[in-house]
Amino acid sequence: MNRSHGHRAPSGRVAYVSGRYLPHAQAGVHIEDRGLQFADAVYEVCAVLDGRLTDEPGHTERLERSLGALNMPMPMSPAALALVMREMVRRNRLKNGMLYLQVTRGAYRRDHAMQANPKLSVIMTARAIDIDAIGKRRSEGVAVIALPDLRWKRCDIKTTGLLANAMAKTEARKRGAFEAWLIDSDGMVTEGSSSNAWIVTGDGVLVTRNLSSTILAGVTRAGVLAALKSGAGTGVEERPFSIAEAVAAKEAFMTSASGGVLPVVSIDGREIGNGKPGPMTQKAHALYSKLDQSSTAP
Ligand code: PMP
Repeated sequence: MNRSHGHRAPSGRVAYVSGRYLPHAQAGVHIEDRGLQFADAVYEVCAVLDGRLTDEPGHTERLERSLGALNMPMPMSPAALALVMREMVRRNRLKNGMLYLQVTRGAYRRDHAMQANPKLSVIMTARAIDIDAIGKRRSEGVAVIALPDLRWKRCDIKTTGLLANAMAKTEARKRGAFEAWLIDSDGMVTEGSSSNAWIVTGDGVLVTRNLSSTILAGVTRAGVLAALKSGAGTGVEERPFSIAEAVAAKEAFMTSASGGVLPVVSIDGREIGNGKPGPMTQKAHALYSKLDQSSTAP
């Protein structure tokens, strides 16, 4: 049903593989690529809205940080990367969609130990998103379930090692929810399987977990925080919160590059607030959208 090379893909999709633009269906990496063998790879997902890359500097900076944490250099200069990204948007005639970028340590005879000066692989794919489906989710809100966080201790690195995330998302979908919020050993929410988690307290304060190696530093999270600071009168706290606090909260929402700000209206089947997207969530979305437009170069 949900095949990756699929019947739904628009024709003419183009992928980028280490210097070459290829038809999507024919693009690939070597069988011994370390991305495939060890998830020795990092990635970024950048939203494209109205043909423009969203939060591009944030994604490029985080890519550099993830690579650095794994002792890999940037595969090309940020300027060259920006050029390839734009070329991908152009060649794919992408209006609203997502650009996926992955850098791996390259193809080598299988050996756990990492090569000293590897020839990195760079792959990029583009895909259109259903803007109406996102709009519907934004107006209706989504359900989340709580699951134990089974991931490793460096969740600040955006690696392609996403098995625990994929298992959590699959369980969520199986139970009719859109996202899983992951719980650490102290009973606190770390983040979603592919998003950051937020609540609004009874006093109207927005709360999201502080940055550490237990979560990914979401680019959208940073954008929303910056937007809230520019809009007067919104209190923000960066600290962990529990599922009990989230269920008792006035509102909840999640953030990601692919979905922006999405209201969360229930956790484990229990309604949050009145079970509808709340005003603070809508304010966060509006402020973030405005800030993002004004800061993105065409
Ligand atoms: N946490 C995790 C685990 C994620 O996979 C993502 C999305 N890639 C996020 C948070 C949100 O990050 P961003 O806003 O940069 O997409």
